[in-house]
Amino acid sequence: MAISKLAADINLENLPCTSLKGVGPKVAEKLEKLHIQSVLDLLFHLPLRYEDRTRVRTIASLKDGERALIKVTVELAQVKFGKRRSLVCRASDESASIDFRFFYFNKGQQQRMQRGAEFYAFGEVRRFGFQFSMVHPELTAVNPSTAAPLLESLTPIYPATEGLHQASFRHMMRQAVALLKKHPIDNLLPQPLLQTLKLPDINASLAWIHSPPKDADLVQLQSNQTPAVRRLISEELLAQQLSLLLQRNQQKDYSAPVLKNSGKGSGKLQAQLLQQLPFQLTKAQQRVSQEIIKDLEQPHPMLRLLQGDVGAGKTLVAAQAALQAIEAGYQVAIMAPTELLADQHYQSFAQWFEPMNIPCVFLASKLTASQRKSALESIASGEAKLIVGTHALFQKGVEYHKLGLAIIDEQHRFGVNQRLMLKQKAPDGLQLHQLMMTATPIPRTLAMTVYADMDVSIIDELPPGRTPVQTVALSDQKRDQVIKRIQTACRDENRQVYWVCTLIDESEEIQCQAAESAANQLTQQLPNCRVGLLHGRLKPDQKQLVMDKFKQGDLDILVATTVIEVGVDVPNASLMVIENPERLGLSQLHQLRGRVGRGSVESHCVLLYQHPLSDNAKARIQVMRETNDGFVIAEEDLRLRGPGEMLGTRQTGEVSLRFANLVRDAELVPAIQQQAHDLIAENNELAHKICQRWLGSRQEFADV
Ligand code: ADP
Ligand code: MG
Repeated sequence: MAISKLAADINLENLPCTSLKGVGPKVAEKLEKLHIQSVLDLLFHLPLRYEDRTRVRTIASLKDGERALIKVTVELAQVKFGKRRSLVCRASDESASIDFRFFYFNKGQQQRMQRGAEFYAFGEVRRFGFQFSMVHPELTAVNPSTAAPLLESLTPIYPATEGLHQASFRHMMRQAVALLKKHPIDNLLPQPLLQTLKLPDINASLAWIHSPPKDADLVQLQSNQTPAVRRLISEELLAQQLSLLLQRNQQKDYSAPVLKNSGKGSGKLQAQLLQQLPFQLTKAQQRVSQEIIKDLEQPHPMLRLLQGDVGAGKTLVAAQAALQAIEAGYQVAIMAPTELLADQHYQSFAQWFEPMNIPCVFLASKLTASQRKSALESIASGEAKLIVGTHALFQKGVEYHKLGLAIIDEQHRFGVNQRLMLKQKAPDGLQLHQLMMTATPIPRTLAMTVYADMDVSIIDELPPGRTPVQTVALSDQKRDQVIKRIQTACRDENRQVYWVCTLIDESEEIQCQAAESAANQLTQQLPNCRVGLLHGRLKPDQKQLVMDKFKQGDLDILVATTVIEVGVDVPNASLMVIENPERLGLSQLHQLRGRVGRGSVESHCVLLYQHPLSDNAKARIQVMRETNDGFVIAEEDLRLRGPGEMLGTRQTGEVSLRFANLVRDAELVPAIQQQAHDLIAENNELAHKICQRWLGSRQEFADV
């Protein structure tokens, strides 16, 4: 279809790219791979960067790797016969000289490179000090009768795609922008938001992005901070917020068991548990327990994230929630990402609940067939009230009598599918209440953006009497000194020690080997200390055995891989050595370090790094030495590494953003969040339109 024949009311959202000149089925197929079908999809395919052919640069001002236009006079050209025959041409402007190198050339080209000839040259610059060169520059002879080959606007460079050249992208985009001018798309951002954030019109923004004028601010362009790009980023962020809020509202359309009990303030069982404890709940624990209990009493499913630094006491809060459900006659499932952690939870809960005559069951792959059978029976009959396990809890064949609440520890380690599987175990016609826990503190603004579909409770206080862990950093050259220090700690001070081997990029196998050789070395050098070894290759019951021995004080030193990162709780362990801490992110180091400092004696952490450290690693280690506050560490981690790592599957699966960057664009978020709330209250139709434009086919994720 020729563009001129298009009807006046066409909608670029539905107009296929094949309506553009030069786009046949082959090109369409390649575009499809980039998820580009409509002309509007194409317009949302943004340049990666830009080239500047709008002005002539001086050679001396060029940076290595830059692509630029220069105007030069030839000084000398000669054919060189090295490994490969090449034509080398020395040329210069008033600022410096440059070498052009051609591996493919003909006689004619060679003859043009006469001494004194003038050319415009465009190409990628290589610079070593003051030596400049270009390989195969595009040359245009300077000629008094023709103008310089300058362009009016910057040249967009699109993300590379096999078989689609930059020239064809530009050709398609020129047509697409022309169409956009004739058939503008709807402006979906409400006026007040446009004003608050000073954002331009959507159509003008798209046209600008594909062809920025020559006076565009290059610094803003490189950092994606031009008003035009900010306009798209804002709309994307709004779409993301809206979709999360819509999902959250949807929860209210579902029914869940009302988990109400008779007690005032706290139920009978909750009061009973509190009486057993040798300490009182902190104010923060009490506050978040109340928030959770209130949710459980509603006839709609709870979806709440419980955040708290390592050691903040999330397990007890979970126990309070569990007792609320159990007293109301429902079962509770607690899911942990590793068998070790699940087992530890099982032990804590059994220790609290069995004296109260609440049967607890453990479900994991290490059970024997007959143990598994009897566990499944008691889950199905309703005899088991609390069921602890790994993802085995939600596999086929596990039938619950009456499941009301699911508690998920370290939720960021589970994917969308596992959460879906879990939901299916709810009683007919009802949805589960879900409590997610995480010890990876996420800065508040980021949490509100990423978890806008959930309610968030934060335990922002540690139990009293904890002494902050003292952290030192030592180079691996001081290893022997550190080992001596361990000797004193174990023998004279009766302390227990973790020795953590981290080799995050290597295979698990190599990691286990590293732990094994560290354990051997320690055994040899410290004959009076009892050394245990814990790594991912051990069978579950072997792991358990080692862990139990360490807990009971039958081992002095536990050499482990990062398997101990989450949740392991041995209060008498008060010294931790972390090998190669430079390989880990801050949050992970903080998690590891959280294994010590749980008792009342002062704890120490030694970061045993490999010399020399990169600047980034130095910065991270410095943060670890300076603070024990998980939220401060999270902010720094975010700054040093970006949000992707921190959020795990959340970032990649559920809320992947194309243009926005939650760290860089954080200042946009408050206004956008406010707008999202207003729209949902006042203009649901527009809210859905925005989601449709940005999430379109990704809406299938919505019902998670
Ligand atoms: P996390 O939040 O990291 O999961 P845990 O629930 O494992 O922390 O608690 C860490 C330790 O603190 C446990 O030994 C637990 O018994 C203890 N603890 C929890 N709450 C309190 C409290 N209010 N006072 C004193 N100790 C507490
Ligand atoms: Mg925990």
